[in-house]
Amino acid sequence: MTAEEIKSVGVVGAGTMGNGIAHVFAQSGYDVTLVDTSDALTQRAVENIGKNIDRQIKKGVIEEGEKDKILKHITQSTDLSATQSCQLVVEAVFEDEETKLRIFAELEKACPSETIFASNTSSLPITRLAAATNRPEQFIGMHFMNPVPVMKLVEVIRGYQTSDDTYSAIAELCSTLGKTGVEVNDYPGFVANRVLMPLINEAIYCVMEGVATAEAVDEVMKLGMAHPMGPLTLADFIGLDVCLSIMTVLHDGLGDPKYRPCPLLKKMVQAGHLGRKTKRGFYQY
Ligand code: NAD
Repeated sequence: MTAEEIKSVGVVGAGTMGNGIAHVFAQSGYDVTLVDTSDALTQRAVENIGKNIDRQIKKGVIEEGEKDKILKHITQSTDLSATQSCQLVVEAVFEDEETKLRIFAELEKACPSETIFASNTSSLPITRLAAATNRPEQFIGMHFMNPVPVMKLVEVIRGYQTSDDTYSAIAELCSTLGKTGVEVNDYPGFVANRVLMPLINEAIYCVMEGVATAEAVDEVMKLGMAHPMGPLTLADFIGLDVCLSIMTVLHDGLGDPKYRPCPLLKKMVQAGHLGRKTKRGFYQY
């Protein structure tokens, strides 16, 4: 499969990432089949896409007349077999291996053998997901960043068996989406989370050890390192449970004690202070 041959794209999971992924593909002229477990969920996703397009129009990123054209490219379904005529399927369901494997097993039955399968997983090994299918050469990681319509990066993750052809097709496809695909091999946390999460974890150690308050740590990183957002504000935004689970993946997968999750992070997760989504984390919302 080449990038030019990809015209129709299936997106499975219409949550935070799935609706952004569907949006950018539709905006670039691809026909998108958006699948979730209920009509209400896909409908809510399409409404969100509509609101995000309105925002883009206000900012002058796209023209008013584009909205209907973009939305017309999206078909909703609750049936995975609706992706049967897609040349690429991007999976963006919950970060749960069993769920993802069940979906790929179903997709395997629905889609022709040349269809490329991609996962947007943040932390599960692409190699292991790929090995559970009968097309590990045509399996790849497409790690989009949140919010998808705004962020330029896609980590393009090569599993152990991903073919050069699959990699080239997906790298080129990222450019047609107006994104930059960066080639990354499949190791725990890939690059983005392997570099970001230890930074956040260390910021949490600073708070735990009384080196500085959360506000002070964030101020140092914003004013001193020109980070647009301090690491603890970012941790609250990502969700402390997600941060803990990624640190655990790094610690287990790489076996180096430098990745041990900070005890304060664990304690806050146990307390249910998960950041913005629970209105309480390092800050109150
Ligand atoms: P989310 O919870 O917002 O959305 C997940 C969606 O998957 C839900 O709408 C759910 O109904 C749907 N789903 C669950 N089981 C399904 C099934 N069997 N068939 C179809 N749909 C199903 O999650 P999210 O934040 O969008 O994350 C999705 C993936 O993207 C995860 O693997 C996550 O690690 C990854 N990711 C998330 C972010 C982020 O910032 N949120 C960033 C990069 C990557």
